[in-house]
Amino acid sequence: MTPRLVFGHNSMMQTNIRHRQTNRHAAVQRRLGSYGQTNGPTVVVVAGMHGNEPSGIFAFLDLLDELQASNVPLAGRIIGLAGNLSALQQGVRFIDRDLNRVWLAAKNPSNSVHDVKDSGPPKLEPPFRCDPLVIETRERDELYREIKQILAEANGPCYFVDLHTTSSQSPPFMPLDDTLRNRDFVRNFPVPAVLGLEEVLPGTLLSYLNEYEVVTFGYEAGQHDDPQSIVLHREMMWCALQFAGCLSKSSRRRVEQASETLREHSGELLGFYEVLFRHGLKPHDEFRMDQGFSSFQPVKAGQRVAEQNGAVVKAPFTGRMFMPLYQSKGDDGFFLIRQIPSVWLQLSRWLRKWRCERWLGWLPGVDVPRGDARQVLVNPHVALFMVRQVFHLLGYRRSGELNGRIRYVRRDR
Ligand SMILES: [Zn+2]
Repeated sequence: MTPRLVFGHNSMMQTNIRHRQTNRHAAVQRRLGSYGQTNGPTVVVVAGMHGNEPSGIFAFLDLLDELQASNVPLAGRIIGLAGNLSALQQGVRFIDRDLNRVWLAAKNPSNSVHDVKDSGPPKLEPPFRCDPLVIETRERDELYREIKQILAEANGPCYFVDLHTTSSQSPPFMPLDDTLRNRDFVRNFPVPAVLGLEEVLPGTLLSYLNEYEVVTFGYEAGQHDDPQSIVLHREMMWCALQFAGCLSKSSRRRVEQASETLREHSGELLGFYEVLFRHGLKPHDEFRMDQGFSSFQPVKAGQRVAEQNGAVVKAPFTGRMFMPLYQSKGDDGFFLIRQIPSVWLQLSRWLRKWRCERWLGWLPGVDVPRGDARQVLVNPHVALFMVRQVFHLLGYRRSGELNGRIRYVRRDR
């Protein structure tokens, strides 16, 4: 193979970004800026992991201006980081690889960054797969170094939020890895929350960071080019500062206003939803979503939703449409989600608190290697009814297959 020179972003350079609809410009570096001091909570905002989603960056810059102009007293610190600078410069989702799918373990690509260890907390080391010819490898490693430094400096609880927008119209929502810690924080926001994306989209930054006992959640503010997405990103960050305990009473009115704006855009969609289905695409698939679908829109089993390689694609069951693909790059055609009943959420909280996974080994078809319930292997031909639901209740996520058995890994609580 002929070696290829990799021209990516250079960490010392300014990267020019542009918002297409408003033609707004900004010159940014990896660190977008910060406000406050290290004592107290640290809120880290990552924006522009996808280069065609600059809304979060403009929103962070607006927030910074507002905090500085009003000299807002802040306990702790908020820091903004830019994601894929090379892709942001070109206004494309990514150059070689999706930066939000490359936080993967070197040994077992189907796992998250960490193999499940026998003992002790995970260390902040990156056993990433590394391809130096891929531009996103450099982007990821630079971002990783910044995050490592922020975590080392932090002197209090840490909160990470990853800002995104979608190709279709969508009300704002929060995807999160399903730990009780993340749930407890996210339930404060007047925004619907979506669990289960990490199972169908391995290698995200948040799944990686989740191993470090920090709160992590994503936030999708709306359509990529819609100026309203910038506003909804900014208002969410005001709420995040409030819920992290950074703001004093003097900011109460501003937070109420932010919360009201989020509530208006969420409408009736509060609560937790679960991803039940992903319509994945292969590189050469000709996929065209039918016009007019938006996230959370109800769809019926058998309803036509798209066309793929000349054939009609139908919804496999009744649920709600989620993140339908209306752009050329990406391998997720659409997802289907359903609301999770609150009794189910409460049940899973109890089961996890009581550490009911201790009894998993008694179930037929479930193997707990070396008696360590952090990862279990399930024989799909023998195991019990509703395997997936039971493992989700107990805080496990599906993580690939091993010798014909399904591997489930328990998340950090
Ligand atoms: Zn995105």
